[in-house]
Amino acid sequence: MSLAKRRGFVFQSSEIYGGLGSVWDYGPLGVELKKNIKERWWRSMVHERHDIEGLDAAILMHPKVWEASGHVSGFTDPLVDCKQCKNRFRADDPRIKGTPGQPDAQCPVCGSKGTLTAPRQFNLMFKTFMGPVEDQAAVVYLRPETAQGIYVNYLNVQQSSRQKIPFGIAQIGKAFRNEITPGNFIFRTREFEQMEMQFFVKPGTENEWFDTWRAERMNWVKGLGIREEKLRWHQHGKDELAHYAADAYDIQYEFPFGWQEFEGIHNRTDFDLSNHQQHAGKKLEYLDPKTNEKFLPYVVETSAGADRTTLVVLCDAYREEEVRGEEAAEGGEQRVVLKLKPSLAPLKAAVFPLVNKDGMPELAHRIHDDLRRHFNVFYDDGGSIGRRYRRQDEAGTPYGVTIDGQSTQDQTVTVRDRDTLKQDRVSTGKLVEYLTQKLAG
Ligand code: ATP
Repeated sequence: MSLAKRRGFVFQSSEIYGGLGSVWDYGPLGVELKKNIKERWWRSMVHERHDIEGLDAAILMHPKVWEASGHVSGFTDPLVDCKQCKNRFRADDPRIKGTPGQPDAQCPVCGSKGTLTAPRQFNLMFKTFMGPVEDQAAVVYLRPETAQGIYVNYLNVQQSSRQKIPFGIAQIGKAFRNEITPGNFIFRTREFEQMEMQFFVKPGTENEWFDTWRAERMNWVKGLGIREEKLRWHQHGKDELAHYAADAYDIQYEFPFGWQEFEGIHNRTDFDLSNHQQHAGKKLEYLDPKTNEKFLPYVVETSAGADRTTLVVLCDAYREEEVRGEEAAEGGEQRVVLKLKPSLAPLKAAVFPLVNKDGMPELAHRIHDDLRRHFNVFYDDGGSIGRRYRRQDEAGTPYGVTIDGQSTQDQTVTVRDRDTLKQDRVSTGKLVEYLTQKLAG
């Protein structure tokens, strides 16, 4: 967290006012990292497949959507208050000893006994009002998931894009949940971004597609460069399943605070479409053009958090290391480095004139101008070269391009690799090609 703040990945929202509970802002490096993850997802879901279309539905939706989806009645957590210290907990908080509401229950914060209220259901949806009158009829919700925007548009998308079942719709967008116990940095926040894909299939084929999507998603996650031993599956038990799901698997990562989900693959059956059909009074059946058969599709959902995935990538990349050899003398023996996959790194390269004289800055600026037409690159001429390398290590920048005395003679530069610390000499004319190859994948 300290690195994230210091280097401009993530800041607390409204920090000068003391912060807003569990809401975070992405700084210059964070916005690039998260954008790279989202673009990678979009590319693999939408651009590289013929059977998935993109969508960007609004955050605000007709309030009946949330009645139909079950969120008004069922998207709740059991809330417990301590009458003594006024803290709030989820009733299933593992730190609570005893049964809330009973004299034996003990508050995990102040330690008082018998002061915890019996659980009451708390709806996690944020409410606001549409129009000038703040009455019940004007209530609208900030969406708690992006999926519903897809369901209510599925026929629009299918018909306009002439897709045939099986096909999917993908969306990236903000979602909001008034979580009772948010925390762990950007792991559980009240405003977050989801990357969701709903795949519409013929009833009876959903189990096959469920397995296919589980495999696809795990492959994609591994493609982010995450260490495989830090990843595992978790199947939801009967008591864990969400109100809409018949089967669900989470992909979990071993965070510094334990194994936790960051993506879920769910068999949502025809739960959502049949409820919308009923509540809206509109037929949502698909007509199979080959067989003339009409049916309500089943849905396999892949639902990932963009922020949580960013946290996975950051945690997995973070290393504290000892450096040996020449660089240890120049930049110190300890370094913090983000070993981000180069294609995800916010900055792809940094350009350093070794010293600010002898024509080096002029050449360095020319190279910087040339590179930034292709990649997000950074120019740094402040401090010793070792210190400049260390600053880029912390930012996860995979390549350091140094312009030295030889460069002005023979138009070559050194390219230093963040992970191996090895340096290659590359001619300036070949630099873009060299970096393009290294950054692929
Ligand atoms: P949890 O059990 O952690 O609350 P969930 O099972 O409710 O999560 P889903 O409704 O399946 O989560 O949401 C899908 C994904 O959206 C999650 O895997 C996670 O990455 C992301 N997500 C959900 N809630 C939050 C949140 N409060 N903050 C950040 N990301 C979230």
